Amino acid sequence: MSLDSKIPSGPLSEKWTRYKASQKLVNPANKRKMNIIVVGTGLAGASAAALGFSVDIFCIQDSPRRAHSIAAQGGINAAKNYQNDGDSVERLFRDTIKGGDYRAREANVYRLAEVSGDIIDQCVAQGVPFARDYGGLLDNRSFGGAQVSRTFYARGQTGQQLLLGAYGALSREIARGTVRLHERREMMELVVVDGRARGIIVRNLVTGDLERYAAHAVVLATGGYGNVYYLSTNAMNSNGSAAWICHRKGAAFANPCYVQIHPTCIPVHGDYQSKLTLMSESLRNDGRIWVPKKKEDAEAIRRGEKSPLDIPEEERDYYLERRYPAFGNLVPRDVASRAAKERCDAGYGVGPTGLAVYLDFADAIQRLGRDVVEQKYGNLFQMYQKITDQDPYRVPMMIYPAVHYTMGGLWVDYELQTTIPGLFAAGECNFSDHGANRLGASALTSPTATSSSPTPSRTTSPTKSTKARFPTASPNSTPPNSPSAPAWRDYSPSPSKNRLPPTPPLS
Ligand SMILES: Cc1cc2nc3c(=O)[nH]c(=O)nc-3n(C[C@H](O)[C@H](O)[C@H](O)COP(=O)(O)OP(=O)(O)OC[C@H]3O[C@@H](n4cnc5c(N)ncnc54)[C@H](O)[C@@H]3O)c2cc1C
Repeated sequence: MSLDSKIPSGPLSEKWTRYKASQKLVNPANKRKMNIIVVGTGLAGASAAALGFSVDIFCIQDSPRRAHSIAAQGGINAAKNYQNDGDSVERLFRDTIKGGDYRAREANVYRLAEVSGDIIDQCVAQGVPFARDYGGLLDNRSFGGAQVSRTFYARGQTGQQLLLGAYGALSREIARGTVRLHERREMMELVVVDGRARGIIVRNLVTGDLERYAAHAVVLATGGYGNVYYLSTNAMNSNGSAAWICHRKGAAFANPCYVQIHPTCIPVHGDYQSKLTLMSESLRNDGRIWVPKKKEDAEAIRRGEKSPLDIPEEERDYYLERRYPAFGNLVPRDVASRAAKERCDAGYGVGPTGLAVYLDFADAIQRLGRDVVEQKYGNLFQMYQKITDQDPYRVPMMIYPAVHYTMGGLWVDYELQTTIPGLFAAGECNFSDHGANRLGASALTSPTATSSSPTPSRTTSPTKSTKARFPTASPNSTPPNSPSAPAWRDYSPSPSKNRLPPTPPLS
């Protein structure tokens, strides 16, 4: 297999501009004649649906609003430099590359940093209620791996607000008829005709029927595969199967071992647990991480004979501040996760299992007051209290690392096309932007950037007929890939429905 990343020539800072200037365009009238399938309605899917084509969009859930993007808490990075603290496109680029252990594709990362500011403007235009400061400007906070404040946020519900903004825009297109929404559908197969992706087979989760859809191109936006570890911070139906199906159909899969372990999750608390709950990284802005300095204290806490409040300040080991004074508690995620595991393995862990460290807000509450802490993190504290039955305003939270984000995914070139022509992958299901360790708050940037990424004239070859060619099937005939399937609905283009008229040459 030959991999051509199609990275434009020229200096990093000019690649995207040059690419845009030299890219073949599809005029709006022709775009409407081209049918695109988008699988996934998270931030990546909803953004891809906005590219102006005639779109069929699919999700497992009963509503696009339930895509996993809704769970993101902490924030979204953009190099706006509103804080005037020295941020720039170059610095966001460098932080992302360094955060990713120098394993990310530089051209993609530079593009991501470059479009990050526009993404915030677009989200604001879609009505996302980002937090604002006293002067009315958008506020920022810090995330791990950065020494500037560039993370835009909406309390601890940033993903929810971003997805609601995207959902609003998507709904408008659905009402206009340019996007057709198919919810409660699970992708079962990718259809490849003459080497090009031309459609998908889905299971209707309400009727159990198999249905088939044809298109000029397929965009996969189905999220990550963290659930292969069983316990992770992902929703249970973020199952990763769609990307795997495409891989089995021939799409290359890159860096499957690059999985991010998030340092601040609520520790495992029982055998019957099906997922873990993330406590946003933003908490490390004001929370201080520690374990007891003495093993005897840790053991007494584990036996329930002591509480963290019994450990005096001088007997606490703020190990991140001690070991990494320049970043303190805001070291990158992999560093914070490793350090927590190292302390627990050495016998200093707390909680009944010994697999936990403290995240303490006592200092922040004293410095800022409880009201301010509540304003910033109130919903996260409430969530923690509901799950653990402990009051984090009074007793330090207990946290431990957990599987969170998958940097690996379907291999894509600069145009987000996989190794199967006509199959594109966007958002967490591709591999391109985050190297071996994603910078906190940059995952929301990459799926949202999909609407400013390419795909236009690559959806079909200008020299070939652009009409999707599916074998037609009668309602009761059996699909080739599913011998025993009971029912079979055909959504292939038919001239009578006029869904996919032959497209004029696009060159
Ligand atoms: C708890 C949590 C908190 C996070 N917080 C942050 C944060 O603060 N900042 C940040 O930058 N990132 C954060 N992330 C990461 C970020 O939320 C995700 O990487 C991002 O939202 C992924 O978006 P996506 O559109 O690629 O996929 P998703 O939002 O996961 O959407 C996947 C879509 O694909 C559909 N789908 C999947 N499989 C199939 C199938 N077989 N057939 C049909 N449809 C299918 C689903 O129905 C869904 O609509 C967080 C992640 C988690 C788990």
